Amino acid sequence: MIQSLPRVTYSNIGVDFSPVHDFLDTLMPDFEATTLAQTWGTPFATGPARQVRSPIDPSISLGRFPDSTAEDVKAAVASARAGAKIWNVSSLEERLAFATRWKDVLADGKYRLGLAALYEVGKSRLEAIGEAEEAVDMLDYYPSELRKNNGYVRAMNQLVEHETATSVLRPYGVFAVVAPFNFSLALSIGMIAGALLGGNAVVFKPSPDCQLTGLLIAETLRKAGLPEGVFNIVLGGAEVGHTLTTDKSIDGVAFTGSHKTGMGIFRHMAVQPWIKPVVAEMGGKNPAYVTVNADLDRAAQGVMRSAFGLQGQKCSACSVVYVDNAVKDEFIKRCVAFAQTLSIGDPRQRSTFMGPLYGPATVERFDASVAQARAEGKVHFGGSHLDGKPENYVMPAIVEMSGPSNLTRDELFMPFVVVRGVDDLEAGLAEGNDVTYGLSAGIFTRDEEELRYFLENAQAGVLYANRASGATTGAWPGAQPFCGWKGTGVSGKGGLGAYFLPQFMREQSHTIM
Ligand code: GLU
Repeated sequence: MIQSLPRVTYSNIGVDFSPVHDFLDTLMPDFEATTLAQTWGTPFATGPARQVRSPIDPSISLGRFPDSTAEDVKAAVASARAGAKIWNVSSLEERLAFATRWKDVLADGKYRLGLAALYEVGKSRLEAIGEAEEAVDMLDYYPSELRKNNGYVRAMNQLVEHETATSVLRPYGVFAVVAPFNFSLALSIGMIAGALLGGNAVVFKPSPDCQLTGLLIAETLRKAGLPEGVFNIVLGGAEVGHTLTTDKSIDGVAFTGSHKTGMGIFRHMAVQPWIKPVVAEMGGKNPAYVTVNADLDRAAQGVMRSAFGLQGQKCSACSVVYVDNAVKDEFIKRCVAFAQTLSIGDPRQRSTFMGPLYGPATVERFDASVAQARAEGKVHFGGSHLDGKPENYVMPAIVEMSGPSNLTRDELFMPFVVVRGVDDLEAGLAEGNDVTYGLSAGIFTRDEEELRYFLENAQAGVLYANRASGATTGAWPGAQPFCGWKGTGVSGKGGLGAYFLPQFMREQSHTIM
């Protein structure tokens, strides 16, 4: 049944998804009755259980989840060390066979996993199912890269007769994987897949309030069958994350989350006896550029979808637009018209495009930023709270600012987009590039010269042009490598792309006479 439903990606807008909605309608009551509100237990989380509630409605219990103690983290790392003994020397065929089994389990369970993200994160139905589809596709794409590259074993030049020289990428050992809340499914599965397919054992920590998704992912791995100890899960917040990532016996960290936490991990690694790999994605401040040669309807649609999809809580969300002064007022008018058509509310409803904000800190940041925009600029749309709903339901904000500020430079991670009128593309790019981050950027223009100038000068790893489905969002496995430049990532070898897996391995040269 599930496999015959239309596939949801972040960019296939305009498709009739009613069969997807019909199926979700049949699943939801059972999911609420059987999966939500349980008390969960895991071997490496023996602290007191915490009640977690849904951002959709505080009366929905997601369950009670124990935190891991420092001893639990140690035990999980020790278990991974034992598992690593077997998995570090697993063959290419063993890893590929495991990947196929895992993919099958994920594909069978993708609607249930999507529902977990819907209830836990407050994602719209299509964002949630799209994310589950993305996770399944990762398990197609990464193994295909592993196979294509012969497990990253490469014959080298022969210098002497009877001698063979080979370059072999080998696992590091044990990876800590620390995931964020916003893509609790796809980003977790992507990093875990990178580590496991590279031959490493894993200790995984989901985001503190996304334990449900984390534990369901652990269940899929159990079903897919891995040797004992290869995959381990710990639960908890920043403290547990710190204990895990600073444990002396881990060999590397895969991290997606805030710039501050990520840079803390790098600083810690820099003073160890040797440098350990940190594969990190640490946020974004993603600009879109709209020139006089843009299709303004397309630009407004692409910007609105990128700015307000998942309530703007994406690393890749568009949060600032540099628009040519000549078309600025018309562009804003079209953005406002498009925003008026967006349906905001309970993500369990079919029509909802934008659900609630994730937590009280985001609500506070939203209110403060709207107040700042009122004082220093102009609010063209939104910025208020929804009547009759909890205070984390807001009307997304479109604001205009007359100069650069914290609102045009800092990652805001909320449905708030700043428009800046500029004299030309060059001036826009100079300002858009002048930020710590470098994840994604988009342009709307029909002029080839402008497009070329953008591609050559935008300081970001993921560039989009003229996309109505998303000005700066919508990356997909095997299609858009999600590579952060500057303060966003380490090396620009992003998830979803061809250079991701080798980051979980180190090179060894084998010369044999
Ligand atoms: N893959 C998602 C997208 O491009 C983004 C993940 C993120 O922003 O954290 O829309």
